[in-house]
Amino acid sequence: MTINKSFTKGLEATIEQLKVDKVYKRLNHLDSPQAARVKMEGRGEILILSSNNYLGLCDERSVIEAGIDGLRRFGAGTASVRFICGTFTIHRELEEALARFVGAEASLTFVSAWNANEGFTATIAQEGDFIVSDALNHASIIDSMRLAKAISKCTTAVFKHSDMDDLRAKLAEAKGAKRRIIWTDGIFSMEGAIAKLPDILQIARETDSIVAVDDSHSTGVLGKMGRGTAEHFGVLGEVDVITSTLGKALGGAAGGFVAGSDAVADYMTQRSRPQLFSNALPPTVAASALAAVRFVEQHPERVETLRQNALYFRNAITEAGFKPLAGETPIIPIIVGETAAAIQMSDMLLENGVFVTGFGFPVVPQGQARVRCQISASHTRDDLDEAVRAFKKVGGKLGII
Ligand SMILES: *Cc1c(COP(=O)(O)O)cnc(C)c1O
Repeated sequence: MTINKSFTKGLEATIEQLKVDKVYKRLNHLDSPQAARVKMEGRGEILILSSNNYLGLCDERSVIEAGIDGLRRFGAGTASVRFICGTFTIHRELEEALARFVGAEASLTFVSAWNANEGFTATIAQEGDFIVSDALNHASIIDSMRLAKAISKCTTAVFKHSDMDDLRAKLAEAKGAKRRIIWTDGIFSMEGAIAKLPDILQIARETDSIVAVDDSHSTGVLGKMGRGTAEHFGVLGEVDVITSTLGKALGGAAGGFVAGSDAVADYMTQRSRPQLFSNALPPTVAASALAAVRFVEQHPERVETLRQNALYFRNAITEAGFKPLAGETPIIPIIVGETAAAIQMSDMLLENGVFVTGFGFPVVPQGQARVRCQISASHTRDDLDEAVRAFKKVGGKLGII
């Protein structure tokens, strides 16, 4: 073997340290589709409270069938980037459906929301622009801003989480900027909190700023029809740019998109590098995602079930003596303190047939490690009751309740 041994040794040393720090991630192997109950690690049925499968569409018949049909009609893939010969009719249909769904003129898909965010920020930013980001924004937004800065020499800042005074202050400091862009998550994934979108829009109007919202955890989740944060607050059509994922509520496969005016979508088509130099979404994935959008449009009751399930679990877990972070989304984090405690709780819950991931530093602030419960429309009341019983048992043993 001629591979570089010291390179490998260096990596191994870092990995060992992750284990010592108890932040080494164990990957659980699933042997069934994402659903309320899954087969995991040969354990038989495990109740899953740790999935972004909010509407239960991962194993929805019409979504699976559409994917198979897409594969038959269009073959395995695009073998090319979009502008060469990688745009299929199913891509355009999906993009029209996504734009309609989130209340925008047009949209453009990417192979992930990560790509969509990087594509958007790094493409839109020009020298002299200023971008301000919520402190709890997703890693893909943070990296997209780093990239934008490196490429375009725009300036950036971070405002305190959902702190509108700080947002105003940061925008005021950048008064001379060519354009000012406000970047926020719709739902913050570690807290389950919803962005103060009406306030942000108001501030944007007063300061002639541009608003971009990443609705990855909100699409299919918020609003009566599941159309996201804008629908939740009654401001559909008022957000300049919405990005989101196809890898969560909308079927859970993969893919993301940027939605906005026709000009935004076309500008991304012309200029965005992940778009120009990387293959389009596989047609089978596009077909499944399109079926997922149609499903949500035809079944708003599924969104209501999700809402009711989240409310039911939130009340039950509170009654059981836990103190989840306050909120109204299906993300219900239970703060336990130290990282080791969160991981121990997660391990013990798994022994009791419930899979919930523990998150510690540096994903969340030091001392605020948590197990994050995520509720799905596919959970039955029995599932949720069973989960609460397991939490009670484990929480009692650990002295948390
Ligand atoms: C999950 C998530 C992403 C990444 O989505 P992918 O499509 O898997 O890349 C981006 N932004 C936010 C806010 C997310 O929650």
